Amino acid sequence: MIMSPVDQIAELFDSAAARDYLGEPVTVAAHLLQAGALARAAGAPAALVAAALLHDVGHLRGADPAVAEPSGRELMAGSDNRHGERGAAWLAQWFGEQVTEPVRLHVAAKRYLCAAEPSYFALLSQASVYTLSVQGGPMSPAEAREFEALPYAAGAVAVRRWDDQAKDPSVAVPGFEHFRALLGEFILNG
Ligand code: FE
Repeated sequence: MIMSPVDQIAELFDSAAARDYLGEPVTVAAHLLQAGALARAAGAPAALVAAALLHDVGHLRGADPAVAEPSGRELMAGSDNRHGERGAAWLAQWFGEQVTEPVRLHVAAKRYLCAAEPSYFALLSQASVYTLSVQGGPMSPAEAREFEALPYAAGAVAVRRWDDQAKDPSVAVPGFEHFRALLGEFILNG
């Protein structure tokens, strides 16, 4: 049986890896649903809501033994799993750059914000501070200028800020079903 793209994504949100915490007070699934809900509440365009919802699919894909990719657990064990790039490459089979580029760049956006905003680092969770060291640390001024010039830099920074906020265990998160229509329409209409 061929699964629809939205069903394939739903399956990832329902996987054992999605129930993992990866050093945060919320599961990966709750984190992603919370990020999507924050983007939606902010009135973000559909592409950015989708990007926020899907930004960590690289962690989930990597946990599937049938997929020869490193998981979020490997990142937490100290080796960069390049989950932004891997997640974006998987999503590119259905979504355009408006979705995949912010996903691909959400780790770079953390490294960028550490360089560009002196107050940003203090907002990071302990796990994010740890992974920052694995992911290359804050950008140099030259790297930050290069990042700013990328066409989807602003979208990636927006996703990053929702990402950082989406770790609140006291917030009730909507179910994946809540985003089905948005994802489905986006896949059909680009
Ligand atoms: Fe995240």
